[in-house]
Amino acid sequence: MSLDTLAAERREPTAHPSTSAKPSLIGMDRAALAAALGAIGVPQRQQKMRSAQLWHWLYLRGAASFDAMSNVGRDLRQALAEHYSILRPEIVSEQISVDGTRKWLFRFPPEGAGRPVEVETVYIPEEGRGTLCVSSQVGCTLTCRFCHTGTQRLVRNLTAGEIVAQIIAARERIGDFPDLATPEGAIVPAEGRLVSNIVMMGMGEPLYNFDNVREALRIASDGEGLSLSKRRITLSTSGVVPEIARTGSEIGCMLAISLHAVRDELRDELVPINKKWPIAELLQACRNYPGLSNARRITFEYVMLKGVNDSLAEARELVRLLKGIPAKINLIPFNPWPGSAYECSDWDQIELFAEVVNRAGYASPIRTPRGRDIFAACGQLKSASERLTRRERETQGLVEAGA
Ligand code: SAH
Ligand code: SF4
Repeated sequence: MSLDTLAAERREPTAHPSTSAKPSLIGMDRAALAAALGAIGVPQRQQKMRSAQLWHWLYLRGAASFDAMSNVGRDLRQALAEHYSILRPEIVSEQISVDGTRKWLFRFPPEGAGRPVEVETVYIPEEGRGTLCVSSQVGCTLTCRFCHTGTQRLVRNLTAGEIVAQIIAARERIGDFPDLATPEGAIVPAEGRLVSNIVMMGMGEPLYNFDNVREALRIASDGEGLSLSKRRITLSTSGVVPEIARTGSEIGCMLAISLHAVRDELRDELVPINKKWPIAELLQACRNYPGLSNARRITFEYVMLKGVNDSLAEARELVRLLKGIPAKINLIPFNPWPGSAYECSDWDQIELFAEVVNRAGYASPIRTPRGRDIFAACGQLKSASERLTRRERETQGLVEAGA
């Protein structure tokens, strides 16, 4: 698809600018909601019931204001609105690809003394399902050579609230919440939900923001709220080996590994975290992944780079390496971005590569590039957010001048 056929619709910054400094309830679990209620004088004996009501409105119904919470008394609604917000990011832009993929640039208010930050979130509608690609960090500390996000320095980790807010804001924009006007107690239909799957494959390395990602995914998978099954949540990592076991035991979602090369020498270059945790250690962590079984396979992502990692000898080596690991192999045609140094493999070569992998008994879907025309495809995400300059940090007292 030609990159200049831009079928995008840009929006003026509008929606719900959340500039208030009030703490947001989005991202809080039940205990934190109860504590927030306690802090505004709700007696302890009511906190459990009230926090369950808040949970229902925030995460199941997608209420955007306290006013909508019809079974919460007016006085309490007022007190809540005085002290708290329901974080919605500002929608800086919304682009819609010719293939229906949507990409949003969301802006979140500053955390502490920082600047507002912007992240991208992508919605990919498919036959019978819809996948939301969610960001975990603004920028990335890692510098994978083929990835656009890798050219943006890490600005900061997203909070659990900002990760959950991407899901809520996206569902709100595509009309994927039950109508607030429906009778109280209506539940999200299990069938026909527009966002059925979540992939932590947006900007950033989720395992370098483990605690916030875990918290956000616990909320996203809670059956009384956003209700996304853990089997439909996939976390992709470049290979942060020490956090892989915890991903299985503490989050329990599906795992994807950005492998991309079968020799350490090449992987050191493409995915530099390999110098710290080389292929053998990474695959050992995969073999030990809690919950791994034929029904819960690990996805190995392999970006197809012309003349770099796409030979049939490499396909055979890939199969050899993964022996004994219940695995799927996802071949990703390289998505170019301005200034990228690689080319996508020829289609014939990708098919031959897939055939070798297939013949060895692995499912090896070739991921159809989606949303390339709006730079929404894998590895094309980047936002203009930058870290504060040293001078700005000095003037805001974040570092000592001259230190
Ligand atoms: N940081 C995590 C998750 C985000 S990247 C990780 O690296 O796994 C999501 C996937 O897109 C990863 O497999 C990544 O390697 C891949 N990717 C990055 N840049 C790409 C590009 N230009 N074309 C195709 N895939 C790319
Ligand atoms: Fe970061 Fe993943 Fe991109 Fe590597 S591929 S730079 S880990 S976002």
